[in-house]
Amino acid sequence: MTLLQKLRFDNRFTGSLPSDDVGGSVPRQVNGACFSRVAPANVANPALVSHSSEVAELLGISPEAVYDQSFADVMSGNRLLEGMDSHAMCYGGHQFGNWAGQLGDGRAIALGEVLDVNGDHQMLQLKGAGPTPYSRSADGLAVLRSSVREFLCSEAMHHLGVPTTRALSLVTTGDKVVRDMLYNGNPQPEPGAIVCRVAPSFVRFGNFEIFASRGDHETLRTLADFVVESEFPHLNSPNADKYVALLREVCERTAEMVVHWLRIGFVHGVMNTDNMSILGLTIDYGPYGWLDNYDPHWTPNTTDAQQRRYRFGNQPSVAHWNLLQLANALYPLVGEVEPLEEALEHYSQHFEKSWSTMMAAKLGLPSLADPRDSELAESVLTLLQSVETDMTIFWRELANVDCSGSSELLERGSPLLRAVYNVNAMTVEQSKAFHDFADGWAIRQRDLNVPIGERTTLMNQTNPKYVLRNYMAQLAIDEAEQGDFGLIAELLELVRSPYADQPDKERFYSLRPEWARTRVGCSQLSCSS
Ligand code: AMP
Ligand code: MG
Repeated sequence: MTLLQKLRFDNRFTGSLPSDDVGGSVPRQVNGACFSRVAPANVANPALVSHSSEVAELLGISPEAVYDQSFADVMSGNRLLEGMDSHAMCYGGHQFGNWAGQLGDGRAIALGEVLDVNGDHQMLQLKGAGPTPYSRSADGLAVLRSSVREFLCSEAMHHLGVPTTRALSLVTTGDKVVRDMLYNGNPQPEPGAIVCRVAPSFVRFGNFEIFASRGDHETLRTLADFVVESEFPHLNSPNADKYVALLREVCERTAEMVVHWLRIGFVHGVMNTDNMSILGLTIDYGPYGWLDNYDPHWTPNTTDAQQRRYRFGNQPSVAHWNLLQLANALYPLVGEVEPLEEALEHYSQHFEKSWSTMMAAKLGLPSLADPRDSELAESVLTLLQSVETDMTIFWRELANVDCSGSSELLERGSPLLRAVYNVNAMTVEQSKAFHDFADGWAIRQRDLNVPIGERTTLMNQTNPKYVLRNYMAQLAIDEAEQGDFGLIAELLELVRSPYADQPDKERFYSLRPEWARTRVGCSQLSCSS
């Protein structure tokens, strides 16, 4: 028996919830069911590209087992293990603010829930494993470029301390997948790939919305009861209070998640309600991006270029709007508006509190309670937009600003100028603003007298040195498409320790190169994957 075959499955989702009684993957509307059983498609030549050793370890998969061909066979969907129960979930969603009806797992097939080494349930899900009843007119497949992006980014997010789905493996399928990358009438064959994603649950806001929209309150209640029992057992109660408590906790978790995104400069790109996890995990890595220069109006998603609904700075209010849709979906189970409104309000309160703690930590301050400190927080965001300034480098360098009282420090903000894209083009006033900010920050640090070691540790645990900049993932993709997976391995290693100084990786601690400013994949991405 191989170590893979030792995986223990306990399929709560498919074992407890109503299933679609039609088989196969013919596109259809599925009523009164939370999922449809469907088998992954066969692929030509599955080959392992990369895997996360931490996720393998969590699942109890031995380090050697991943190098056996059977691992690639299973993680490509070519082979199902005993105990697996492959299926696609039924959900709906609001896309770009509009109700879109039934969506569902169109290019994801879940394999089943593994009991991990801690005894917790982990759903394995293959992204790009072939058509399902929810594929509509699409093929259910994924290409290498989008799979590399999801694989690296979800692991990077985890190591940054952001709640996220994980990625166990990345395999190429040996099949070609045709994609019109920019939707401009230029379809091309691309290498196909599959990521095995892992999370305790992949349930989204849209799983609730679909049943509420159809007036199917029975299935809605069954699903809500299941989610509370399996994922939020501490909220369980015999009455409707549990649904309100569920909303309240989802509000809290979602607020936490978005605050993390703001801390590290992450833009999700497609915050539709079908891409919002009930566990408050970052989910569905599509046209996401990282801020190089700090610009709250930026979004990498070309599909959203006009409206910019999902731009960096709009993510907190979009999350709130999405939670309102979840509240509406839960309403039939509660029957009263006020408790749901109160729970929703909790989002804003929790967000404010959490944002303020996060900003204080970025600034190396114990809190923003003192008005002088909240002013610093405000002024830093203005400063970051005054000239093109790299967000990651600016924050990381702040810890290197000298706080001593020496009056000789006329240019206290010098370390921060390393983050400016075009220092030579700065006006005298613009550079002065950097030095003034640094002076103001140093004064507060002297007032507070926090030992430098303590301050630096706090700041360096909050302000990452390495993030998965868009161009870095793109370089790895360029090489991978030529059959060279070296940079994927190197970047995976890099993102494992985003807060540590990695002297041999210093080249990744630098401003975005000029060529990446406008290149497709680095600054512009579409949903086409
Ligand atoms: P997204 O916003 O990218 O998460 O996708 C929105 C919806 O489209 C989901 O229901 C997906 O399952 C579906 N979808 C996206 N791409 C494909 C594809 N290549 N094949 C089938 N369904 C897809
Ligand atoms: Mg999605």
